[in-house]
Amino acid sequence: MSRIYNFSAGPATLPEEVLKQAQDELLDWHGAGMSVMEMSHRGKEFMSIAAQAEADLREVMAIPGNYKVLFLQGGASSQFAMVPLNLMGRTGKADYINTGSWSKKAIAEAKRYGEVNVIADTAADFRAPAQEELSFSSDAAYVHYTPNETIQGVEFPYIPDTGDIPLVADMSSTILSRPIDVSKFGIIYAGAQKNIGPAGLTLVIIREDLIGDAPESCPAMMNYQIHADAGSMYNTPPTYAWYLSGLVFKWLKDNGGLETMAVINERKAEELYATIDASDFYANPVDPECRSWMNVPFTLADDSLDNSFLDEAGARGLKTLKGHRSVGGMRASIYNAMPEEGVQVLIAFMREFEKANA
Ligand SMILES: *Cc1c(COP(=O)(O)O)cnc(C)c1O
Repeated sequence: MSRIYNFSAGPATLPEEVLKQAQDELLDWHGAGMSVMEMSHRGKEFMSIAAQAEADLREVMAIPGNYKVLFLQGGASSQFAMVPLNLMGRTGKADYINTGSWSKKAIAEAKRYGEVNVIADTAADFRAPAQEELSFSSDAAYVHYTPNETIQGVEFPYIPDTGDIPLVADMSSTILSRPIDVSKFGIIYAGAQKNIGPAGLTLVIIREDLIGDAPESCPAMMNYQIHADAGSMYNTPPTYAWYLSGLVFKWLKDNGGLETMAVINERKAEELYATIDASDFYANPVDPECRSWMNVPFTLADDSLDNSFLDEAGARGLKTLKGHRSVGGMRASIYNAMPEEGVQVLIAFMREFEKANA
């Protein structure tokens, strides 16, 4: 059977080396006589796994010392509430940038907690606003944006400069895809199941001065302070997802870190966009300046061919290419763990399919 390449947007493909290591260690982690899944989160074995994962993530992302890293549950969707719950009380309002489906959800959730100013809305245009289009409310508690819209494939080509207002980023689908300057952010959060590890873990990287402002009524599980004080062990954390994500951080270190990931990711994306642009048979709706390195949506000029495209691609081992129902067509998610070869096999198939059907 030919090799399978999984282009799912999330849960998404994981590095094969990582899965093999997890397999080797599944029944007996480092001679502990038990699986990581069976360990107490407060035992010394798991504590060492947890600490190593955090240390490796800090190294890979160059996270400054005045940031806490929280290993939580609830997905990025819980952060849509947790961010305003913890931060909005500072001034009662926050600025949001709307670039697509995930921004919209974050905005809808924030409205439960205070005044939300949508300071730019380019969701209908498949692009991110330029810095000049952004004017911030002087009393915003924070500015929230989505650096990469996973569904539309729209990515900010820059980090917004918000001056003294803390910048909050939903990095679910773009974290670890390239080096970023963490010090430009107040909070970075991400569900793990795109570019980190398995579903069930949510990473929050938060500047320490933003911790501690939750109101009395804030549930303990939604309070950054409580999780930070407890080292993300206020309750049982998602231990296995934490462990597996730690293996991914180690894999990143062993494979050249984020500088190398950036070079490979940009190359994969450019090859795919070049293939789309070179033909009238395929199209991508996104402003070329704002095209995502991670999620590449594309449509066929004749959408009655969509199903045969997906069937034939699947038969070649190219899986999960169906686009999100809100955009239609196809979407190739090409996170860190998608080998370059997978993108090349996809491109070869696209050319062949075009030749046979144009
Ligand atoms: C997938 C995704 C989410 C939702 O993540 P969950 O972990 O399922 O809550 C939110 N934002 C972005 C940008 C995403 O890609």
